Amino acid sequence: MSRLPLRRILVTGATGQIGSELTPALRARYGAENVVAAGHRREPGPQLAAAGPYETLDVRDRQAVAGIIAHHRIDTVFHLAAILSASAEAKPAEAWTVNMDGLINLLEAARDLGCAVFHPSSIGAFGPDTPRFQTPQVTVQRPTTIYGITKVSGELLCDYYHRRFGVDTRGVRYPGIVSAETMPGGGTTDYAVEIFFAAVREGEYTCFLGPDTRLDLISMPDAVRAAIELMESDPARLRHRNAYNLSAMSLTPAELASAIRRRLPGFRINYRVDPLRQAIADSWPERLDDAAARTDWGWRPEDDLERMVDYMLKRVCAKTDHPRCPDRF
Ligand code: NAD
Repeated sequence: MSRLPLRRILVTGATGQIGSELTPALRARYGAENVVAAGHRREPGPQLAAAGPYETLDVRDRQAVAGIIAHHRIDTVFHLAAILSASAEAKPAEAWTVNMDGLINLLEAARDLGCAVFHPSSIGAFGPDTPRFQTPQVTVQRPTTIYGITKVSGELLCDYYHRRFGVDTRGVRYPGIVSAETMPGGGTTDYAVEIFFAAVREGEYTCFLGPDTRLDLISMPDAVRAAIELMESDPARLRHRNAYNLSAMSLTPAELASAIRRRLPGFRINYRVDPLRQAIADSWPERLDDAAARTDWGWRPEDDLERMVDYMLKRVCAKTDHPRCPDRF
């Protein structure tokens, strides 16, 4: 049996890197009036606030979470509010409360009010003891960052609420996401976004990871499509309720810089390694095995390196209108 179509949707963390693109995609698909964007601190862009219902929400406030879900008669939550890897290392206690109290508040409300919950995990849920190549769906998860610890705990909580209370929890382990709409919020793969803006504006970029640091990356269109396709998929086929491995492309900064240089000749990359973020990246897998997602709900990435670089330069050039942009962008 297929899942009923999503009808009334809440997106937490809607002003963030993923939310600012997932929310418009959901509004285009389900009707703007049926998708409530919830932001916190960061001001919403005019597109987000004016195009549909908007709420201010601190996910640590359990009553407020339940109140918004009940008031808007929400049946599906895309729970994106979180503190990401590098930011979390600077404030571990706050990262724990936002990432864990926020999630359990959502799960409690989902249990009481009967909603499905999408909760993204991350390649950060793995650690140095995990196999780094073709990382299996089920494997060792001993992360060495507070972000990773909250992600593994979040995966386990989603599993628990599904088994114990029948909450329809679903999730993916996102690789680093490459996008042009909203700058990323303090993750370890932020270089893969910054490099495009610097390439167009300055003609050069100083990367905080070393040239050969290989990590999984995914384009934002693929990341958004994955979230929607998973939430629309047949629940009977889902063998994993914590989070599915997702993979799209496994790249180093040097390889990404070469692909940009083929389009913007003269682009230069320099390296000034940030030891904190390098240590985080070195503890993460280089490529995940996403066979379970492919089998259970038909996951297929559409963007490879060449398509992603074309898409990013087009978006960045449209935003910045810089003379360095080639005509075809
Ligand atoms: P982001 O940092 O851009 O956005 C997160 C949002 O959460 C921000 O807009 C922030 O205002 C909000 N927030 C912070 N504290 C809050 C609170 N107390 N109450 C309510 N909102 C609060 O992050 P993102 O990249 O959009 O990530 C969304 C989710 O996807 C997170 O769970 C993240 O761990 C996961 N993820 C992201 C990536 C990536 O590359 N962007 C990769 C793997 C997993």
